[in-house]
Amino acid sequence: MTELVPVPQDLAARAHVDLPTYRRRYAASLRAPDDFWAAEAASLDWIRPFREVSDTNFDPADLRIRWFADGTLNASVNCIDRHLPAKADQPALLWEGDRPGESRTVTWAELADQVNRLANVLRGLGVAKGDVVTIYMPVLPEAIVAMMACVRIGAVHSVVFSGFSAEALADRIRDAGARVVITADEGLRGGRVVPLKRNADRAAAAAGGVAHLIVAARTGAAVPMTPGRDIRWGPALTAADPWCPPVEVGAEDPLFVLYTSGPTGRPKGLVHTTGGYLVQVGTSWRTIFDWHEGNVFWSTADIGWVTAHSYKIYGPLLNGATSVLFEGVPTFPDSSRWWSIIEKHRVAIFYTAPTAIRSLMREGEAPVRRHDLSSLRVLGSVGEPINPDAWHWLHRIVGGGRCPIVDTYWQTETGSVLLVPIPGAVANKPGAAGKPYFGVRPVVMDPAGRPVAGAGRGSLCFAGSWPAQARTILHDHDRFLRTYFSPFPGHFFTGDGVERDGLGYYRITGRIDDVLNVSGHRLDTVELESAIASHPAVAEAAVVGIPHPVKGQAIFAFVTLKADQPETEALKAAIVALVRERIGPIATPEALLWAPALPKNRAGKILRRVLARIAAGDYHDLGDTTTLADPEAVDEIIRRHRASQ
Ligand code: ATP
Ligand code: MG
Repeated sequence: MTELVPVPQDLAARAHVDLPTYRRRYAASLRAPDDFWAAEAASLDWIRPFREVSDTNFDPADLRIRWFADGTLNASVNCIDRHLPAKADQPALLWEGDRPGESRTVTWAELADQVNRLANVLRGLGVAKGDVVTIYMPVLPEAIVAMMACVRIGAVHSVVFSGFSAEALADRIRDAGARVVITADEGLRGGRVVPLKRNADRAAAAAGGVAHLIVAARTGAAVPMTPGRDIRWGPALTAADPWCPPVEVGAEDPLFVLYTSGPTGRPKGLVHTTGGYLVQVGTSWRTIFDWHEGNVFWSTADIGWVTAHSYKIYGPLLNGATSVLFEGVPTFPDSSRWWSIIEKHRVAIFYTAPTAIRSLMREGEAPVRRHDLSSLRVLGSVGEPINPDAWHWLHRIVGGGRCPIVDTYWQTETGSVLLVPIPGAVANKPGAAGKPYFGVRPVVMDPAGRPVAGAGRGSLCFAGSWPAQARTILHDHDRFLRTYFSPFPGHFFTGDGVERDGLGYYRITGRIDDVLNVSGHRLDTVELESAIASHPAVAEAAVVGIPHPVKGQAIFAFVTLKADQPETEALKAAIVALVRERIGPIATPEALLWAPALPKNRAGKILRRVLARIAAGDYHDLGDTTTLADPEAVDEIIRRHRASQ
């Protein structure tokens, strides 16, 4: 059954890309990729223009990923300076604090001033081109200033999510060899204080090698400062020169390092370079959200995630767009907080994640209905497949049935979106991540490494390079080759399963590592979880495999109910019956445990790896849990699992 939600006609009429344009440009981008990307590259201001567009080869024995390699540029000039003549006094950033009523507007001129000053402070500390600076900050304008100050002087930023522990931060400081760390006194999230400076002190002590900590004032709390090492942001910027000449960097020089959030294991520091990344991120951001001058954009992603790097920070800045930054959580002080922010700033484009939508669905429609969301034009989803129930809720309740949902598939590794229904061009298919972006060639691989023709299922790979892809894993190029290029030589391997339908839509079926094998049948987690979540009492579900003497693996389901739903045996039976009916008897869960909350990482992704250990009774060997957002959720699930045995 293919249910398509058509492109709204009024949107298509003035979209940057309508269906004929999509078809024509997509075909052209595959026929002559260098011509296509050279034209996209004209969106940037180059210092020295490039002559060669690409030099790429996906053969693992001779991997080359080079774009615009002899061109030079500066990222902060492209993100800020070039907008100043027209927009100096217009808002670049609209910041909303954790508590309602606390907000700030930062104009392009103010942003430029702060960036230049901080860049000079960094220079004064001896930070030079190519050095890595670690940024451990909440969602504050200062975090964006810090990123831009780094790239102004050719330094490489490594943003670490401010909810991470001192231990996780120390690992990332050590791996990157950062001498300077930029942080804040404290953070605020959902009314709770996060002791950032204290964590940074501990991390610096554990990591070694940190010469300086720059500390921005967020709450103004008195935090201990180590003389000679620690520097206060405010006085240092006031004393600094307000002009810092931008450093010329090569297109293939690194722009940033970003560690994957890691539901699947040891974090990897993916390295992104300057030219190709900025070309593709700037142009794709505008296209996939169909941004027009005057549209306020809001991505709810935390800055420690790739989504924020590409499509909350670099994408809007490169295009001179105004965007909202929100420090807090969707449910504080109550679950209408997001909707009140959309109403206040007349947000036109809203980009979020399925996990957050599911948590807000638990609270019902009333909090949404209290607000005027008529400014919304386009909605976006990222991070995991969006289950059809959440899709329809977002579409109908939040978008009033008028706004297309761009379900963007991509990864830290890919740097930019690769699969997406471009809103003015491609009709939505709920639960599917649309069609390939320009220049992108998806390949569905069978287990023997043969491309599947037409409709079918397999491993999602990509043939041929795209400018924004990561170039390596910091200090571990072998792991980069092994993980992404060796499984299917000549292709980039994503690690995700996919299904392509007869119309050319791609639906992600889950991570290959999570696929369950029950009596020889391969079952994907996404399908099972979507079936469970389609029960009206269910908020969210996660399934994992447990060893089974006969079936090989059996299905173990963790289920979170909506607010005020009683946890009864009858409800368990009803959910199991629903899954049997939707997918078949083979999909019958062997066991179902009520979980008040599921363990997630900071990007809101379920840590199935941890749940699988719990389901198997391995409570003491949960693997790396440093990226857990809510360790108490795990303790509670263990307690309940133990009690059920
Ligand atoms: P790690 O690589 O350390 O395990 P991660 O994969 O969660 O962490 P990200 O790079 O942020 O880190 O996430 C990319 C992954 O998220 C994809 O490989 C895919 O599994 C999933 N994903 C992202 N967007 C979508 C989407 N729109 N639809 C389906 N899956 C998505
Ligand atoms: Mg990944």
